[in-house]
Amino acid sequence: MRGTGTDLRRIDLHTHSAVSDGTDTPAALVAAAARAGLDVVGLTDHDTFDGIDEALAAAVPAGVQVIPGVEISTQLEGRSVHLLGYGCNRHDAPLLAELERIRRSRDERVPRMCELLTRLGVPITVEEVLAQAGEAPSVGRPHFADVMVAKGYVASRDEAFRRFLADDGPAFVARYATPLRQAIGLVHGAGGVAVLAHPWGRGSRDTLSPVVLAGLAREQGLDGIEVWHQDHDDATRRLLHQLALDLALLPTGSSDYHGTGKVGHPLGVNLTPPASLAELERRMARRGR
Ligand code: AMP
Ligand code: ZN
Ligand code: FE
Ligand code: FE
Repeated sequence: MRGTGTDLRRIDLHTHSAVSDGTDTPAALVAAAARAGLDVVGLTDHDTFDGIDEALAAAVPAGVQVIPGVEISTQLEGRSVHLLGYGCNRHDAPLLAELERIRRSRDERVPRMCELLTRLGVPITVEEVLAQAGEAPSVGRPHFADVMVAKGYVASRDEAFRRFLADDGPAFVARYATPLRQAIGLVHGAGGVAVLAHPWGRGSRDTLSPVVLAGLAREQGLDGIEVWHQDHDDATRRLLHQLALDLALLPTGSSDYHGTGKVGHPLGVNLTPPASLAELERRMARRGR
């Protein structure tokens, strides 16, 4: 590896495959990462590790390093917060049990959301949603959106979220999410590194105030925060970067790529500084994968 200062690796640490709500298979995503000129890509599907083996197998032929990860659905004071876990032991029983609990709750809300959508004049069935999710063990609102697009009710996932599926939308049904502090503990317990995803994106900015972030760093040992993300404007990125420096949190950057499922999030659109990845890898190694 090149030394710091001349390390120009292009590192994108947060992406989704069709194992959750992205549209590329894990192998296709890794190939796309190579074509996008990335050297390192983190696969962070929602609440599941199911795509990791396929992505790791695709890494060598593609000439891309894959960092195994997960994006955990958590909550703080009732607000949704996403936590990225890198390098976790994928056989850690407590973490696996918790991810399964979240996924079960994802499944359980499907009938109710179909009912609401049907009442709202956009009838869709549980079977259609499950068929759309296919092999994905983690069923999410984007799968509902894709059914709605396929049936011609809306033009895009974005329109489906705006009109029906957003957190304050008429078809939203809450599901279980792990308390944030517990989730950080689970990631650490599994030997992983915990990074807050898009902390000042949609909805969570008020909850994750600088004081709260300082507490999470000090008391929970939070490792990092995502700074360079499409949900953060330039001013927000500057503030978060300074906060990361002040709190000794690793600043990361990513595309939050979802294949064709999310516009404006192409692979490599935001990057992680090589120094952040180096420290992240040191911690992963120290905690034992
Ligand atoms: P869920 O996992 O069911 O809570 O759904 C959240 C997922 O929906 C996240 O992965 C978001 O990236 C995605 N999402 C949220 N808003 C939009 C939008 N406007 N267009 C496309 N995807 C979205
Ligand atoms: Zn997603
Ligand atoms: Fe997220
Ligand atoms: Fe994400």
